[in-house]
Amino acid sequence: MHGATHAMTSNREERLHTASNFLRPGLSCRLAAMRGAFLALFALLAITPTFAHAESRVLERDSVLVLHSYSPDFVWTRSQQDGVDAVFGPLAATYDVRIEYLDALHHPELMKGSLLPGLLRSKYGGQRVRVVLTSDNAAFNFARAHRAELFPDVPIVFMGLNGYEDSALRDEKGITGVAEDSDLPGTLQVLLQLQPQTKRIIFPGMADDLTYRAIRTTVAKDLAALPSHINVEFPEFPDVDAAIEALGKLPPDAAIIVMSNMRTRYGEGISSQRAVELISAATPAPVFTNWDFVVGHGAVGGSVISGVEQGHQAAEIAVRVLGGEHPESIPVRRGAGKTFLFDHRQLTRFDIPASRLPPGGVVLFAPQSNFQISRQAAWIAGISFVALLGVTASLLLSMRRRRRAEAQVRSLNQELEQRVRERTDELSVAKEAAEAANRAKSIFLANMSHELRTPLNAILGFAQIMERDTRLPEDERKNIATINRAGNHLLSLINDVLEISRIEAGRTQAVREAFDLPAALASVEEIIRIRAETKGLAFAVDRPEDLRPYVLGDAHHLSQVLINLLGNAVKYTDQGRVALRIVSEGNDRIRFEVSDTGPGIAADEQERIFQAFYQTNSGITKAEGTGLGLTISRQFVRLMGGDITVASEPGQGSTFGFSIPLPPTDAAPHDGEGPRIVGLADGQGAPRILVAEDHPDNQQVVEQLLRHIGCQVKIASNGQLALDGFQTWHPNLILMDMRMPVMDGYEATRAIRALPGGERIPIVALTASAFEEDRGKVLAAGCDEMVKKPIEQNHLFEVIGRMLGLRFDYAETRSAGLRHPTTIPVDLNGLPPDVRKDLRQAAGILDKEALLSIVERLEPDYPVEAEIIANLIENYRFDVIEELCR
Ligand code: ADP
Repeated sequence: MHGATHAMTSNREERLHTASNFLRPGLSCRLAAMRGAFLALFALLAITPTFAHAESRVLERDSVLVLHSYSPDFVWTRSQQDGVDAVFGPLAATYDVRIEYLDALHHPELMKGSLLPGLLRSKYGGQRVRVVLTSDNAAFNFARAHRAELFPDVPIVFMGLNGYEDSALRDEKGITGVAEDSDLPGTLQVLLQLQPQTKRIIFPGMADDLTYRAIRTTVAKDLAALPSHINVEFPEFPDVDAAIEALGKLPPDAAIIVMSNMRTRYGEGISSQRAVELISAATPAPVFTNWDFVVGHGAVGGSVISGVEQGHQAAEIAVRVLGGEHPESIPVRRGAGKTFLFDHRQLTRFDIPASRLPPGGVVLFAPQSNFQISRQAAWIAGISFVALLGVTASLLLSMRRRRRAEAQVRSLNQELEQRVRERTDELSVAKEAAEAANRAKSIFLANMSHELRTPLNAILGFAQIMERDTRLPEDERKNIATINRAGNHLLSLINDVLEISRIEAGRTQAVREAFDLPAALASVEEIIRIRAETKGLAFAVDRPEDLRPYVLGDAHHLSQVLINLLGNAVKYTDQGRVALRIVSEGNDRIRFEVSDTGPGIAADEQERIFQAFYQTNSGITKAEGTGLGLTISRQFVRLMGGDITVASEPGQGSTFGFSIPLPPTDAAPHDGEGPRIVGLADGQGAPRILVAEDHPDNQQVVEQLLRHIGCQVKIASNGQLALDGFQTWHPNLILMDMRMPVMDGYEATRAIRALPGGERIPIVALTASAFEEDRGKVLAAGCDEMVKKPIEQNHLFEVIGRMLGLRFDYAETRSAGLRHPTTIPVDLNGLPPDVRKDLRQAAGILDKEALLSIVERLEPDYPVEAEIIANLIENYRFDVIEELCR
């Protein structure tokens, strides 16, 4: 079979055609891979042409037939088809583009016989082929030759036609197209520019290649323009192998221009692209070209024409023809798509500097900069970099902002801390101020009471003396009696104020001791009954039969509250009755209700009467009270765990009630049966006790009791002697019987209080009966405490101990026979003067904290004195401390 291909060696005038014809219904030309399948189909059609004809269907659309000289594996052919597709692709709905690859290089013999025209006739004979497009010379020549038989009067539009001369078409109608006018002059010029040392330019080719032959005739005049020292040669080779062999021996001053298709020595057609590849690889001379598709396949470059451009322009002409234009009226396009195109690898191979390239030249395969290679990556990197810069900048900015914000926060914080410090300072200043004010109030009240009491005691004392003076006229004695009354009222006012200030200062606490509740109530009852009967009022006490005997609570405060409420009831009721009702509330609480048939209290005043100094009209009219009784009572009840409420209607009387916890206990109250005080604990001085008592038996009893526990005792048998004893003996405490001849206890107390130093000495009233003496009256006289007769020794010791801050030994803890009355005096004279001064000052302003801190300081070196002071502080006997430190 290869024998036939030897025809390529023959010098035939006829162009070689290859009839590798296959049906291609679509537009795409990239069907090389399907070539085998279509070849098979072609064989079938070739065997049964009539059948194929009979089967061919009438195309509904106008057809455009594209006849390519070569097969689709030729780059040039493919690129021309690409150009055609670019135009007809969008018109696919209007025109049916049919493509036939005549493959003239592989099968030149088919171009001459009747087989190929017959096939085409059977395929397209019955169809409306409106225009025939041909590429390259072989297809154009075939179309022209068989035009009358295959496509009578169908216009032909050519492309890639080499060696076109206007005169060639002079006798034929309906033909136009795009001439493949190689820009040989351009390529020659570039060649000499790039390779100035060139002396020989060689155009290798095959004698039977139509293209080669056509070019050879057309380039003659271009070559004539070359410098005279350059030889132009057109060596003809039988095949590419021969060409390679010959051209491989070329000297470096030679240059090659390939403008021919080739065949191998076995007759196999190869494209000019492949031919250039082989020749370029074998020869030391550079290869130049006019075709774009060989740049990149061994050619250095040249002024090239583009196959795509050829196809594109030809298709555009075809569209115009289809649109009705006469082909003759469309002039043949010439020199379409010239470009200076180069292969960088070949430029490098022949050391051709870029500076020699013509302006506008395109260099393929130029080594690209990293930026060019990865333009996208570079862009991305660039953009990322810029973005990063932006982010960094914004981060820096935000860091700065953050630093600034932090600085601001810091400074705000500092400012805040400063403010907090300032506020704290202010607060602590305010707190100190408040505390100081509170202390000042206490100091003021304490001082006021002392300062008022002193002259008041003198006034009252002398007023009482004058009242008894029979030398004075009756009316003056009445006046003096008024002074006495007013003075006593003032004194009770002062005592009430002192009581309130003690409560407010937290110095009053409710005790929780076992006491005999029925006995305490009986005492209260006794006091009130006398008062009620004096006023002609009925007094009823309603208490449960089974009232528990012993309860835990504060008997003293409870009695005070009940006496106050019942006292008010009696005071404000002019007729009717006063009642005390006692109700058990569960096991632990007891409710007390005091009711009367008095004037009652208006609703809007019922809460206000508990305010200090508040009195209703009836209170003011009575001109007896101080307006502090209910205030103090409420405070006492609250201290005991309850509260006073009032229910009243004006004109209907009032009921005051409160409920406090008074849990029952089996323990009997101290009545001498409990732990017995047997003496002063060691390390304490022997206190000096002045006993004002007119009854010799009582004198003896008290003296023995006191001496027994280690006290020094001096007896004064009346008030006047007590006054003297106070001044001469300087006792630490006075036990004052209130009923005495010459001068009674009230008078003596007032008189003593009126004396220098007399305001601070503890005076304990001794009364025949707690109920005979009005506690208020006793306290108003200036006594600090009250002890009833017959004296219960433990109670007496406890009261004295509390007043003087003494510690005792009890029967259980004491070792029998070891106790001897101590001779250490109760004084603080052993303390350094500055400590005494500090103590005096702290006690003077009732500064418990300061006193305690001094005690703490004293403990290591002065344990006895520290103990004495601690006891006095505990009992709020700041006055005693102050006195002892004078
Ligand atoms: P006072 O020393 O004036 O009695 P209190 O604090 O004990 O002070 O009482 C305040 C006021 O309440 C009295 O002045 C009086 O107006 C009124 N009050 C108290 N108890 C009664 C009562 N049982 N009936 C009518 N008014 C009363």
